[in-house]
Amino acid sequence: METKRHCLIDHYGRRLNYLRISITDRCNLRCLYCMPPKGLEKLRHEDILTYEEILRLARIAARLGVDKIRLTGGEPLVRKDFPYLLPELISIPGLKDVSITTNGIYLKEHLENIRSAGMKRINISLDSLKRERYRQITGFDGFDRVREAIQLALKMDFHPIKINMVVLKGINDDEVADFARLSVRYPFHVRFIEYMPSGLFFHNEPLHYVSNTVIRERFEAIGPLIQLPRKAIDGPTVRYRFESALGEIGFISPLTHHFCQECNRLRLTPKGHLRPCLLSDQELDLKGPMRAGATDRDLEKIFAEAAAHKPRAHHLNSEDEISLEGRMSAIGG
Ligand code: SAM
Ligand code: SF4
Repeated sequence: METKRHCLIDHYGRRLNYLRISITDRCNLRCLYCMPPKGLEKLRHEDILTYEEILRLARIAARLGVDKIRLTGGEPLVRKDFPYLLPELISIPGLKDVSITTNGIYLKEHLENIRSAGMKRINISLDSLKRERYRQITGFDGFDRVREAIQLALKMDFHPIKINMVVLKGINDDEVADFARLSVRYPFHVRFIEYMPSGLFFHNEPLHYVSNTVIRERFEAIGPLIQLPRKAIDGPTVRYRFESALGEIGFISPLTHHFCQECNRLRLTPKGHLRPCLLSDQELDLKGPMRAGATDRDLEKIFAEAAAHKPRAHHLNSEDEISLEGRMSAIGG
């Protein structure tokens, strides 16, 4: 039996028990805030971690006290070996929570496998409830597919089904109340995410964030909001519920309310780099040493080094643009 040796604790006393694994840099959408319309140069197949390498690193992370893993991307469901990876990942001793963040386009056909692998919760990114607007934001006429996937996930009793909306001023912010109302009628956990301005791409018009404080004010007409007690798994989300609602809403405010002091995350990129902070371009290579014959003990040391390099906080504020050299679509958000 594998034994837990020690925990990853950084210089500021934060226990790093959450690993986000971006399993591919590829995506079938071109969301305005994440990818340029023509996409990005793709990593070469041989530069991406294999499924066995991902599992090996996940096992090492679990032995170091990581108990929560989220699969992300790019779009995780475009990776062909996803159905094989998931059950193996879920069966790693020590992991209590394995979940996925998906754009939902291929979700419907994967739901049965996902559930039989033992995953119960699911995060779906959806930025508009209007078909044509969805197409304008994502570059793909896929709204009906995502809606059908959400309906099926509901029927199959996935819980919670989280719906993540990135709010963009003048583009979809007029829909925030409609999204919030979804949490009244359905047991969805709707999350409003402040857009983090990326300076990487040129759009005809620059994109602007809307602060979550402003968004909350728009919910007054729906009814009083009850703040929910904080749970360890909440991460950066501040949660509320409308009276007699079946679901809840939550705010993730990277710009207006830094949550760095509670950040428990490390990120593994598709090319096998460990990234201590989303908003810092510092990364430590795991794939190179692994392919050169590093032992598990050697790789554990790289994990420990990443923990030691985790910055106390990011300094991004609403006036800044982030460079995200590593690109959001490859890092996984
Ligand atoms: N493709 C999957 C999806 O969209 O759910 C997973 C990867 S995506 C990079 C993960 C999350 O990052 C999504 O919820 C997306 O909305 C969010 N995201 C991407 N770029 C962002 C930005 N500039 N600001 C805020 N959130 C962003
Ligand atoms: Fe793809 Fe997700 Fe980025 Fe949209 S947010 S382009 S779905 S990786």
